[in-house]
Amino acid sequence: MTPPPPPPMPTGRFAPSPTGVLHLGNLRTALASWLSARAAGGRWIIRMEDVDGPRCRRDLGEAQLRDLEALGLTSDEPVLWQSGRRGAYRAVLEVLHEADRLYPCACTRKDLLKLASAPHAEDGLRPYPGHCRNRAWEGFDRALRLRLPEGPVAWQDRLLGSQEDDPAALTGDPLLFRRDGCFAYHLAVVVDDGAQGVTEVVRGADLRPVTATQIRLQEALGLPRPAYAHLGLVIAPDGSRLGKRGGALGLAELAARGVGAPEVVGWLGFTLGCLERPEPCAAADLIPRFDWTRVPKGEVRVPAPWAT
Ligand SMILES: [Zn+2]
Repeated sequence: MTPPPPPPMPTGRFAPSPTGVLHLGNLRTALASWLSARAAGGRWIIRMEDVDGPRCRRDLGEAQLRDLEALGLTSDEPVLWQSGRRGAYRAVLEVLHEADRLYPCACTRKDLLKLASAPHAEDGLRPYPGHCRNRAWEGFDRALRLRLPEGPVAWQDRLLGSQEDDPAALTGDPLLFRRDGCFAYHLAVVVDDGAQGVTEVVRGADLRPVTATQIRLQEALGLPRPAYAHLGLVIAPDGSRLGKRGGALGLAELAARGVGAPEVVGWLGFTLGCLERPEPCAAADLIPRFDWTRVPKGEVRVPAPWAT
């Protein structure tokens, strides 16, 4: 008998889009994923999700890496920029096409808006109703969607516990390739988590509704399912979402108000249940104190003096 393969190295990741400044919510996610990986004796990697066309900029990504480094968070591997991965994504589309899981979608943005009756359309998440499901294959130069199997997906969240979602009700068949030639977020994130051996995905609660859909795509590709943890969002003192109104509340803005990196790390560590009160510290000081059972589930409000 062959012995079972050794368990994979615990691997966490932080995967921002280089479209702006990392705000305190992004930084909290980065620190939590780093602490979780480090506390498990694992590795931690940074990936730049820059597939989304011209909004993504190399200089913004590099500024994000400098901010992470200022907090003591550096990638154990060279940073992966997804814009260099188009060949790999295309190969995966071919695998899915061979398995008859893809179909071309001819809907325009206007069609989709007309079809959308969902009141939560405000957050940009409208389930695709499957209009084009029975369209014949027209080649790889069309918008392509994944045909989801029916039924709900049950999964465990390190923070939120047992979850069950029906991806058809949340996203519908996800877009994997866009009419403009760009690979879509769902495809890139699932393929690269698999390729990089990621065992744990820590991210903001705003991405929780796409988890079941991404699990379906992992299954279609035969990829292992990582553990998930969805953190409550960080909101401004007035309750608004960071970056939407007012300042981005990034490190440079905070530094200009006299709040340095050790103070930011201490406050983030406090909001993650590692410290009894916010006090300046280094990220490494928090590793032995990190425990998912102590991380609060809800939203976190930025201290008022930091935002004014
Ligand atoms: Zn369509």
